[in-house]
Amino acid sequence: MKVTADKVRAVKDKKTMTCPKCGKDVKMDFIEASMGFGVYNISLVNYKYNWYTICPECHALFAVEQEKAQESAKNKSTASVTADDLIFLKDIPVK
Ligand SMILES: [Zn+2]
Repeated sequence: MKVTADKVRAVKDKKTMTCPKCGKDVKMDFIEASMGFGVYNISLVNYKYNWYTICPECHALFAVEQEKAQESAKNKSTASVTADDLIFLKDIPVK
């Protein structure tokens, strides 16, 4: 029996947005972290999705607002994500 739990994957859909931190127009990569419980890839308990994105210019890490992340994960699309949905978490130290 293969039990699935926390998963992290890159969202294929990139999106050009204005970074709320540095104000530049950048192509944002989104990362999806899902938490739930399932067997043979069939979800038994509803998955909860969290989306994160990192600005390629200033390396700020943002979380996507929870409801928007759920909706976007369901639609497998970043179309409805806007800069207003990004919650600044921290700066990622870059060498
Ligand atoms: Zn930025």
